[in-house]
Amino acid sequence: MSTDAPQNHFKLRVLIVGAGPCGLATAISVTLAGHSATVFEATDGPQPFGAGILSSPNGTRLLSRWGLNKILGSMRITPKILRVLDLNGDLIAEKKQFDTDVMRTCGSPLCTYHRADLQAGLLRRALEMGVEVHFSSKVSNVNIHEHSVKLQKGDSHCGDLVVIADGTWSTLRSKVLGRIIQPRMTDNVAYRVTIDLTKIDGQEVSEPMKSAQLHIWRGTDAHVTGYHVRDGSLFTLSIVMADDFTSETSSMHAIIEELKTRLCESDKILAALLKAVQRVNKWRLVEVSGLSCLDLPKGFVLAGDTYHTLRPSLSQGFNLGLEDAATLGSLLGHVKAVEQIPGAIAMYERLRSRRVQQVLHATQRYESGGLSTEIEPRTPKTPENSNVSAMNEDIGYVAAQNDIWAYDAYEAAETAYYDDPY
Ligand SMILES: Cc1cc2nc3c(=O)[nH]c(=O)nc-3n(C[C@H](O)[C@H](O)[C@H](O)COP(=O)(O)OP(=O)(O)OC[C@H]3O[C@@H](n4cnc5c(N)ncnc54)[C@H](O)[C@@H]3O)c2cc1C
Repeated sequence: MSTDAPQNHFKLRVLIVGAGPCGLATAISVTLAGHSATVFEATDGPQPFGAGILSSPNGTRLLSRWGLNKILGSMRITPKILRVLDLNGDLIAEKKQFDTDVMRTCGSPLCTYHRADLQAGLLRRALEMGVEVHFSSKVSNVNIHEHSVKLQKGDSHCGDLVVIADGTWSTLRSKVLGRIIQPRMTDNVAYRVTIDLTKIDGQEVSEPMKSAQLHIWRGTDAHVTGYHVRDGSLFTLSIVMADDFTSETSSMHAIIEELKTRLCESDKILAALLKAVQRVNKWRLVEVSGLSCLDLPKGFVLAGDTYHTLRPSLSQGFNLGLEDAATLGSLLGHVKAVEQIPGAIAMYERLRSRRVQQVLHATQRYESGGLSTEIEPRTPKTPENSNVSAMNEDIGYVAAQNDIWAYDAYEAAETAYYDDPY
């Protein structure tokens, strides 16, 4: 079953709002399906900011299929060890040779990237394939009858399908849905930091940081994901904490101090890392879920964080956006006339809503009862397996993700299409 359809001489004109990871990935997959893609992005160019992104096998499988392995090769790290600790530094579970285990069970690696590198790589690949990417092109409105987008600077562009991928705080989503959609506030706050490991001395940090590792710290009201990015000299932390939102801290110095105080009981690696923090981003986490593309006018579709924004404890937001892109590209690859678009979108909605629910439930189960659940170490099922730590074959973080990581968006879309072609 071929999913890329260069022989598809009929070309849809697909307009994409937003050159975030999901918008660019959509442009790539739609082009591979034989259609033309044009992207409109509000900012004036690729942004160098951001922290780390963890791409699990369900995401790296797609990056590889889209030809990004070569472009991103030197910019990615494959963690070799997974360590799950409590906030006092006590090891709950460890998986040595985590990389080979993931490869064996999922057929694609788990990799970590600096977000700016991923963005640059996706942009480069899209441009290489002939995608038109217009920066400084904020879309201010849409015309639902003409399937067109109107730019703030004045011009309008018409297509067969408009993909709205302008992120969690989308301004266009409400316009196409015809009702106000506000992201729901959660009781959690996120801090993102990137630490230059070359500026840290101290055995307690340098020793465990020697090899590429994925660290998960779990505590009563905090969940921290930490990993290396770039050439391994940077370490990024994504910290999610319960918050009562009474503090009005806003200066960088005060936020850093607040973070250290809140994690003061933390283990010595985490404490040493936090000591070296110079910049931190902090924001209240929000959620978007339950939207349906079937409620949109014909010729419009939602993708990425615009469509669904989940809590980040299983690190799936970016990966789900790639899956949206792949599903859309695969299904549009079968479209040979504009009249078939609604059938493709209905199938997209069916596949994606089911999949997002699956990830949402896995996230809730993992967090079950807040961020507080401790994972019990278990006796290994196969003690003779030397690849797996004697402590744990069934690490909660991995167990929660097994079905998520194994997902192949192209395979799911192709199977659905051949079961019920439009
Ligand atoms: C703390 C935290 C940690 C995370 N860690 C991970 C992780 O490790 N792994 C993972 O998979 N995910 C992670 N995520 C989620 C991930 O970052 C997002 O899901 C992903 O970036 C969403 O991509 P997107 O393209 O949908 O939206 P965005 O990245 O928000 O891109 C939207 C784009 O649209 C543009 N835009 C907005 N409005 C307009 C307009 N009107 N006209 C034109 N352009 C417009 C914006 O400038 C932007 O470039 C994390 C999230 C959080 C909060």
